Amino acid sequence: MSTTFAGHGAARGLALGRARVRLPHVLEIGEQRVPASRVEAEAARLQAALEAAREEMRALREKLQGALSREAVEFIDLHALLLDDPELVNALDALIRQERYSAGYALRAQRDRLAAVFESMDDAYLKSRLDDLAHIIGRINAHLQRREPLPRGTAGEILVCDNVAPSELAQLQAQGVVAIVSAGGSPLSHSAILARSLHLPLVVGATEALARINDGDVVMVDGETGQVVVDPGAADLRRYHQRELQDARQRRDLERLRRKPSRTLDGIDIALHANAESREDVARAHALGAAGVGLFRTEFLFLQRTELPDEDEQFHVYRDAVLGMSGRPVTFRTLDLGADKADRTGLTLANEDNPALGVRGVRLSLLYDRVFDTQLRAIARAAAYGPVRVLVPMVSCREEVVLVRRRLRRAVAAVRRHGVQVEVPPLGAMIEVPAAAIGVYGLVDAVDFMSIGTNDLVQYMLAVDRNNDALGDLYSPLHPGVLRLLAHVIGAGGASRIPVAVCGEMAGDVRLAPLLLALGLREFSLHPSGLLELRRTIRECRLEDLTARAARLLQARDRNAIERWLSAATS
Ligand code: PEP
Ligand code: MG
Repeated sequence: MSTTFAGHGAARGLALGRARVRLPHVLEIGEQRVPASRVEAEAARLQAALEAAREEMRALREKLQGALSREAVEFIDLHALLLDDPELVNALDALIRQERYSAGYALRAQRDRLAAVFESMDDAYLKSRLDDLAHIIGRINAHLQRREPLPRGTAGEILVCDNVAPSELAQLQAQGVVAIVSAGGSPLSHSAILARSLHLPLVVGATEALARINDGDVVMVDGETGQVVVDPGAADLRRYHQRELQDARQRRDLERLRRKPSRTLDGIDIALHANAESREDVARAHALGAAGVGLFRTEFLFLQRTELPDEDEQFHVYRDAVLGMSGRPVTFRTLDLGADKADRTGLTLANEDNPALGVRGVRLSLLYDRVFDTQLRAIARAAAYGPVRVLVPMVSCREEVVLVRRRLRRAVAAVRRHGVQVEVPPLGAMIEVPAAAIGVYGLVDAVDFMSIGTNDLVQYMLAVDRNNDALGDLYSPLHPGVLRLLAHVIGAGGASRIPVAVCGEMAGDVRLAPLLLALGLREFSLHPSGLLELRRTIRECRLEDLTARAARLLQARDRNAIERWLSAATS
């Protein structure tokens, strides 16, 4: 008997495969004991994981020598000390030898014991040390798990998990995972953005997934509607194949728009740029006739690994993106690590209470001088091969842009000293912090262009975490306050003759295109998979009519009124 339930579609695509259920977190490990004959081997497994974690710390410290703030060094040293702490090491060993716990469960049991001690403390500082311990235990556990080879499927697997990090997606795909169903997460998360880029179907917020799906079950996933069918019957399979055919037909229809202009019915050209995270995205953007790359998320180069990419490696990636667009501009966004884009190189601070409001985006770049200068030099070198722009994420004030421009000029000068003749690329600011949006007139003469990051702007304006599925519909760009602020920023760009784009996921939602056009937007940047559909919608819009309705849109008092406006605009 098949069962069906739904989460939210986060990355399009249909998939049929066998489930691989993952309960990764140390806190999820249930009681497991090993037979007496395996106790020695289990203790040795733990020792090996401990040694691997120590080695990881040593390598990290060495690699980041000089590029780290004092706080970050202290943080790494503290973790290295904890790994050597005889009390922790002996307690784990005793749990395996005396209780015959598995190494994984020993970690969990020790973590629970320590949590009870720490939680009874009054001192807030000491209490917070539990996070360090939990982090270290998590690292040891990661090494333990790594030693157990993951089961491999032959016909593709569907990963069923509580959550998936952006840093593991590419690896999972390489291992043969054809789709992911996660109990948590949201379509706006960076994991979702990356899954779309990798064409890896993803359903998030499927709260029943872990309870309903067992390892090895056959599962059918629709990454567009969010539907998950466990143990599909003949009728489900027929529907699946019909959908496959229908999708192929739609793709063929859209293909005819490849070489058509993105022009409204009344003859206004709208610039459609692409968001890219990889060389494949750039190739697709070029093939689909994108006006350029409006957002190249460089941080994805840093996420899949434990070592920082050096200048040459970055240069090659950036140069290939520039060559891939053959003369159309490529906008490189400088490193936007932090919050849910926590890397494994050790750059992101792991112990922030509120990472979304912490050291992320340009703040992190300005903290790590060498890392930032290396990136700017690599971008400047790539500019010798075609037009390049530099976009700064998470700008909250003018001073940050001024500082970055100074650093960019220095990077260009350094590159010129090596005989590479390049000009200083245009510099832009992401508008995704409400204060930057409200105070946009303070920025316009410090930047050459602006790009509105609605994913973050909406979360910060509405105080709704973009990754928190429990907040459901509260996360929506269709809020009168959001629309007013968008109109304000777009208007400021127009008045100051500074190009303004929207590069958040809102730009890729074709349903919202008439609304953005009415607010005055003339430049969109979206994932290449949505380019042709948006072009089709734009070709059906009459800008004059939309502009005439703009005042009504800005008077809307709630989401329903905005939805009504949208229905009227498209009827
Ligand atoms: C945004 O915030 O809208 C954006 C484009 O940046 P990211 O999604 O990478 O945070
Ligand atoms: Mg952002």
